Amino acid sequence: MHRDERRGGATADDRRHGGPQDTASRPATDTQLVRKTTAEAGESSLASRRGFGDTPQVTEAAEVANACALCGRPGATLYEGLEDRLFDAAATGPGGVPWSLLTCESCSLVWLDPMPPREAIGALYDRYYTHEDDDPTDASLLERAVIRGIPAVRMGYPEPPATDTIERLLARALALVPPLREIAEHAVMWLPVARRGRLLDVGCGSGAFLERMRDFGWEVAGVEPDAAARTGAENRLGPDVAVAPSLDDDSLAPGSFDAITLSHVIEHVPDPVATLRRCHELLAPGGLLVCVTPNTRSLGARAFGASWLHWDPPRHLHLFDTATLERATRDAGFGIHQVSTPGSSAHFVWQASALIERNGKLPGARVRGVSPASWIESIAFWMLELALIRLGRSVGEEVLVVGAKAGEKAGEKAGERTEEKAARAIEGVGP
Ligand SMILES: [Zn+2]
Repeated sequence: MHRDERRGGATADDRRHGGPQDTASRPATDTQLVRKTTAEAGESSLASRRGFGDTPQVTEAAEVANACALCGRPGATLYEGLEDRLFDAAATGPGGVPWSLLTCESCSLVWLDPMPPREAIGALYDRYYTHEDDDPTDASLLERAVIRGIPAVRMGYPEPPATDTIERLLARALALVPPLREIAEHAVMWLPVARRGRLLDVGCGSGAFLERMRDFGWEVAGVEPDAAARTGAENRLGPDVAVAPSLDDDSLAPGSFDAITLSHVIEHVPDPVATLRRCHELLAPGGLLVCVTPNTRSLGARAFGASWLHWDPPRHLHLFDTATLERATRDAGFGIHQVSTPGSSAHFVWQASALIERNGKLPGARVRGVSPASWIESIAFWMLELALIRLGRSVGEEVLVVGAKAGEKAGEKAGERTEEKAARAIEGVGP
C-alpha cells in the first residue's frame, strides 16, 4: 500500500506544538524513552551535536521483533535495506543486519526489525536534535499570532502576556483560515481551556510547549530523559516546575495529573502500551491523554514509500495508524474521546521526504535548498491532504488520539465547573 502511489504536490507546516521545538532524549527504560522526530521541529531547531563523521554500531544481540506488540501476530516485510537517513546513528542493526520495517498482517502496526536492544537505544540519539532555545519572544509576529493568538481568540484561552494590538488583530484574521486554526489547536495539543489543571508533557524537550501552556493557565510539569534538554527546560521554566528524567520517576505521583501529552514520543518507546498504561496510572479520574504520532497511512507515506520522512529508522520503533493507536490506547485502559489525522505538517513532510528521495539522506533533518517550484508543490500537497481529510479520508501526516481515564474529575461530581459552564454559554452551546 505504501509503495506505488503517485506523489502529490506539497506541504505542511511542521510545528510540533505549534512552534519549532527542540528536544532530544535518551531512551532508557520502558516508559522512559522519548524523542521527537524531525518533523516536529522546524529546520531551525534541528542540528547535529557532533557532526556526522563516525557511525557507532549497535552490536548487542537483537531482541526478537518478529511478533506484533499489539496482537502477537507475525509481521511481513514492508521495506528492507533501510539506513539512518538523518543522524547516521547506526547504518545497520545488531549483527550488521540492515534495518527493515515489518507490518502486522492482522492489525497493521509497523515496527523496526531488528529491534535494537534497550541498552543500545541511547546511542541512536547521540546526534539528535539539540536543545537550542526557541524563546517565544524570538518568534515572528505571524508565528505568535497563530500559536498564541488563535488559541486566545478561538479557544477561550487568556491572551498571552505582552500581546499588542497588531498581534491581536492579526490573530483574529488568521483564525478565519482553517489550516492555521489546526496549527493553533496543535499548539495547545487540542486541550480545551475548560479542562485546565495539572499538565504533564512527556518528552518536553526544552519546555517551550510547557511555557506556553503555563501562560495559558495550566499548572505544568515535564518528563525529559535527555540531560541537556532537561537542563534547558529547567532554566526556561524555573524552580517551581518539576522536570523528571523518566516517566517511571518516583517523583511522579499516581493520579496526580489532569492531562498528559505525548507529541512524537510513542513511536520511540520499546513498549508503547506499557508507556500508555503508566500515563493512565498518573492521570486522575477523568484525566485526558493526548497522543500524536506519525500516521503510516498518510498521504506522504503513500506518495514517498520508503523515502517518507517519518519512517526514521532506527529511532522509530513502532509506527501507527488510526486503528492501531486507538487500539494501543484502549489496551492501556483508556476510553477514546477523539481520533483524527492532522495534516498541519504536510508541507514540511513533503519537502523533507522529497530531499530524502532525491539524495538518500537528509543530514540533521535540515530542509535546505528547497526551490520555489518545490515550495509550490509542497503547498499544493498540503492543500490536497487537507481536502482529502475534509472528505473523511484519514490521510493526515499525524495520528491524534485523545483518550480519557474513567471517572469524574474531582469537584465536578455535581456537574460542570463554573468556568466550563461559562465557556459553553459564551459559545452559545450551553444549556
Ligand atoms: Zn498486530
